[in-house]
Amino acid sequence: MFDYNAPAGLLNGRIILVTGAGDGIGRALALRCAELGAQVILLGRNAAKLEAVYDQIEAAGHAPAAICELDLEKADAAAFDSLADQLFDSYGRLDGLVHNAAALGPRTLLDQVKPEAWMQVIQTNLNAPFLLTRALMPLLRASTDASVVMLSSSVGRKGRAYWGPYAISKFALEGLMQVLADEQDGTSNIRVNSVNPGATRTAMRARAYPNEAPERNPAPEAILPVFLYLLGADSQGVNGQALDAQ
Ligand code: NDP
Repeated sequence: MFDYNAPAGLLNGRIILVTGAGDGIGRALALRCAELGAQVILLGRNAAKLEAVYDQIEAAGHAPAAICELDLEKADAAAFDSLADQLFDSYGRLDGLVHNAAALGPRTLLDQVKPEAWMQVIQTNLNAPFLLTRALMPLLRASTDASVVMLSSSVGRKGRAYWGPYAISKFALEGLMQVLADEQDGTSNIRVNSVNPGATRTAMRARAYPNEAPERNPAPEAILPVFLYLLGADSQGVNGQALDAQ
């Protein structure tokens, strides 16, 4: 596991948006960020799941969270711009942006992938992170210490048969990370990095490996250290890196 112990209060006062915050890794990360002092913006498409996370944060007495109900597959550029306007009015800046939500899509030979399925996966896993980052750049620039984190995958770093548009979208996300990171000059307050979480016990993992015993893999709560490192001040100056959670 990535070796980092997040100190209490690490994220005090930070405003952090996590996509796909209603389940799996995004949910665990949002809860832990709140525990460490962040105001968390929970973005996802399932209101009931987001409300459950919101309630858990409130019940624990942490800084209040916010819910952004948005389907990343359906949202167009105007929807992302409108979200950014609302967040600018409410917060004035953003200190953390975690592109976690993703669609698994079809696990089949590339030439068997239906065009609609290709479009759906690329929309959710690549176009949405681009459009969201683009819309939120003014808020990230308004922060004194902003961190953008892209959730990658081992199949986004080395291609593997039958992983179709999912693998290819993750390669492209690594490209988005590298180009954006390289555009941050010495005076930029923004760092951009990617993380491969590795096999993690979530609904997506169960869909990808239906015959695998879930206990084989760590729970989402166990793989968070690298994310907390990247979101807190200890990673200042770390930019353009492809890291592994495990
Ligand atoms: P889950 O499927 O468990 O959770 C993903 C979350 O993203 C869900 O809350 C889901 O919503 C949300 N989401 C999916 N599509 C959309 C959409 N169109 N709009 C808004 N929200 C959406 O996935 P994991 O937690 O396993 O994965 C998190 C990230 O880690 C992903 O980027 C994945 O590719 C990556 N990853 C995971 C690995 C693993 O072993 N788990 C391994 C390698 C990479 P809903 O609850 O409605 O489905």
